[in-house]
Amino acid sequence: MSGLKLQSTKNVGYVIINTMKTKIKNNNFVAVCHGNNAYANAINVLERIDLPDLSGKKILLKPNAGRKVQPGKAITTNPHVVAAACDFFKKIGAEVTVGEGTILGVTPFECLESTGIADEVEKRGIPMIDLDAAPADKIEIKDAVVLNFARISSAITNFDYIVSIPVMKTHMHCVVTLSIKNMKGCLKGREKVRLHQLPQPSTPVNEKTLDLAIADLSTVLIPDIVLIDGSLGLEGLGPSAGTPKRVDVVLASTNCFAADAVAAAIMGIKPEDIPHLRLTAERAGESISIDDISIDPSNWRDWIKPFELPPKEISLNFPKVEVLDCESCSACVSTLTMFLKRNYKDIADYLPLKFAIGKGHDVIPEGTLCVGNCTIKKCGDNKLVKGCPPVASDILKALTDN
Ligand code: SF4
Repeated sequence: MSGLKLQSTKNVGYVIINTMKTKIKNNNFVAVCHGNNAYANAINVLERIDLPDLSGKKILLKPNAGRKVQPGKAITTNPHVVAAACDFFKKIGAEVTVGEGTILGVTPFECLESTGIADEVEKRGIPMIDLDAAPADKIEIKDAVVLNFARISSAITNFDYIVSIPVMKTHMHCVVTLSIKNMKGCLKGREKVRLHQLPQPSTPVNEKTLDLAIADLSTVLIPDIVLIDGSLGLEGLGPSAGTPKRVDVVLASTNCFAADAVAAAIMGIKPEDIPHLRLTAERAGESISIDDISIDPSNWRDWIKPFELPPKEISLNFPKVEVLDCESCSACVSTLTMFLKRNYKDIADYLPLKFAIGKGHDVIPEGTLCVGNCTIKKCGDNKLVKGCPPVASDILKALTDN
């Protein structure tokens, strides 16, 4: 398969791989299309990129459908963009499958269903697979900084090419989530959580451990083809508690670094300011400088719509709420943010409040509500809401139970 070249698992307990390469000759061309018809835009950009003969090839379409939410919220890929990819690759003779692996607590099939993607895929007679259901291949990552191995769904080894179809979003920990970060859904089950729980590297570095881990992962797992859904993006507190933003663009490329760089530029973000993108491109020897990328059409800058970045402190949005966030992952931040958005008025009698999330706390002060399994060890006598990720209704229950 592409992007992940399996050789043998027998002797070392690992699947040995070659370094990051896709089967498609990378060029630095990115096609962009603007307009209010996401389906037509997606077909348009796919027709303009230089693809090899995909007739008879097995293609995995990997949208961002990792959460059980309704379409139109910009949290998951627009079903019409996935539909366009299904139609395009089927028309050129490829054997198309749609697959996803989700956050914990939900299943890929229920997420594909709720996001409206399953409807589009089913009516085209295209199969869907649960990437979390297949056993994991334990992949060694040579010269890793923090992630020495990754457990990746073995289902993806059945495919010749992977098409990453993310939605254009900001991300509270990674600045943005685009085609490279979207590949994290190919990790098996809890492995997605482990990526957030890795110890810092022994030699101090400026980058966050999560960015380093994504860069390590990218050396064994990158998409061959990219289709970025920027019809309705998500700004602010992405990847799941932000605000939808209409951008009306779709991008395609066979170069994930170039595609993510151009998408970031359209979001008003310098590609070099996105640590995981900079690190992954450096390791691949690819440029993310806009000047080095061939972008069609030349007036693409007319479609730049600067995105609001995620706030540094989520408690800023909620007076008298303090969140002690120490190395949490986006699932805990999203749960807590959703809880506060929904229930802030109802918990007026309990203010001021202090919440702790994340695995990095030395001491959690008395009177803090600890949220998520990561806080268990340092919770002490404080109230605890278990779960990984925790459930918003349990937070309310813990607060209101005497
Ligand atoms: S408990 Fe929360 S912060 Fe910890 S891994 Fe689970 S979701 Fe992430």
